[in-house]
Amino acid sequence: MNPPYLSIVIPVYNEEYNLPPLMERLYPVLQGTGKPFEIIFTNDGSRDRSLEILRQMAQQYPGVKVIEFNGNFGQHMAILAAFEKTSGQIVITLDADLQNPPEEIPRMVAEIEKGRDVVGTIRQKRQDTFFRRLASRIVNITTNKMTGMKMSDYGCMLRAYHRDIIININRCQETSTFIPALAQTFCSNPVEIRVSHSERAAGESKYSLYKLIRLNFDLMTGFSVVPLQLFALFGIITSVCSVVFALFLLIRRFVVGAEVEGVFTLFAILFFFIGIIILGIGIVGEYVGRIYQEVRKRPRFVIRRTYGFDNE
Ligand code: UDP
Ligand code: MG
Repeated sequence: MNPPYLSIVIPVYNEEYNLPPLMERLYPVLQGTGKPFEIIFTNDGSRDRSLEILRQMAQQYPGVKVIEFNGNFGQHMAILAAFEKTSGQIVITLDADLQNPPEEIPRMVAEIEKGRDVVGTIRQKRQDTFFRRLASRIVNITTNKMTGMKMSDYGCMLRAYHRDIIININRCQETSTFIPALAQTFCSNPVEIRVSHSERAAGESKYSLYKLIRLNFDLMTGFSVVPLQLFALFGIITSVCSVVFALFLLIRRFVVGAEVEGVFTLFAILFFFIGIIILGIGIVGEYVGRIYQEVRKRPRFVIRRTYGFDNE
């Protein structure tokens, strides 16, 4: 087969009921583009029949390739592993749960061909819970602040990247990351298009509240040291304030004399500072933890087997 021009990357974790309908919609769309393409699925340690279904697809459909992970390494690692194996000029990521319509792919390809290097998408009438939308807003605001870019929806995984961006992403070796933000640090000419959004076709979301908070932390600490700097700044301001306060108390001691009624106010202030200190230690700990992860230099993911790639 010709070397692929389009590479579609799909992470899969327990999606047995979504894979067949996804393929039925995706494959005709790709054939309709008239370009050579490949679809790379990463099975991220699914415990249902997903892997079996994927292996069948790799035999049945030309261009379908499967990476089998040795366990569950997370959506972003699954995408990164597939990125390393892509060879298309245009790489498109997609969720397996049919929340992103595959029919939008030709529009995204057209944008890249017009000279854009990243095509993001904005979900119209997003079909998710209030909590999820709130988390996304935080992600969008922090990412824009950190990268100095203006994009309104980083959470939507239906995205297209030019080969150059993928090459740079493949050079990064960090262990916890958030791909749309990473891509944003390399791109120079991004664009966003509006796409529709559906409810998850089957199964449930793989992200609990805890996993979402972790993801936001990765995003915050993974791309900047601003939280550390802000904290240091805050520490300086509070210590100046407390010196002023201590002076005030000293003078008051001479003017009014000894008194004990203010004890509880003092406690309140003390607790406030203790709270800040604990928060600060937490933030520092977050960075130390990341440094620890990086220096261990463990492999980020372990591939057990691949199916459908040429070199087998
Ligand atoms: N996913 C994965 N590994 C995980 C969690 C999720 O490969 O540990 C995949 C999942 O199969 C889906 C995509 O990542 O294709 C997005 O997951 P999900 O739909 O659960 O996230 P949400 O849409 O709720 O953000
Ligand atoms: Mg989903």
